[in-house]
Amino acid sequence: MEALKEKIRQEGRVLGGSVLKVDSFLNHQLDPEFLNEIGKAFKEMFKELKVTKILTAEVSGIAIAVMAGLHFQVPVVFAKKTQSLNLDPETYEGEVYSYTKQQHYKIRVSKRYLSNEDQVLILDDFLANGEALKGLYQIVEASGANLVGTGVVIEKGFQEGGKKLRAEGREIKALATILSMDHGDITFL
Ligand code: 5GP
Repeated sequence: MEALKEKIRQEGRVLGGSVLKVDSFLNHQLDPEFLNEIGKAFKEMFKELKVTKILTAEVSGIAIAVMAGLHFQVPVVFAKKTQSLNLDPETYEGEVYSYTKQQHYKIRVSKRYLSNEDQVLILDDFLANGEALKGLYQIVEASGANLVGTGVVIEKGFQEGGKKLRAEGREIKALATILSMDHGDITFL
């Protein structure tokens, strides 16, 4: 998606060589018109698929998933990262390892909102080490739903997640793939 690459070139900030901050439109301040273009691009990318539900993870996946949901005209479910009283006790779980926190945590979706009748499209903001997607795949598998596709806004191709998950047979598409960010210079595929 050319407009996304341009937006990243103009507004992205590289931290410590491997973290890309896109806080001005995707991860903190949200740019609704631009996120709507992202939703539209996902619809175009996966237009052949029959989708009944979009699945993402809180918090950063929600905005783009909702925009995509408008174009697919299907509900969006987000996996929750904390156990709380307002989450149904009956849940499907996935496990995610956080490199930044150096610990495992669970993500959960209520059994009410995913079933073996669903055709699920997983969407997320970033693909880095692939842990978030792995946790979401576990949830889809536990629910018996059919996974029809996976899309991410930005894949950091210099990290291992994409390679690892594709080697396991996962088909993942990205709206923009970054090959390197050395010295703050962002190179796209
Ligand atoms: P994973 O390593 O599991 O593929 O990425 C986990 C999550 O960390 C992503 O869903 C995303 O929210 C966040 N993340 C990973 N790398 C980056 C990055 O470079 N920039 C930002 N803003 N978030 C990231």
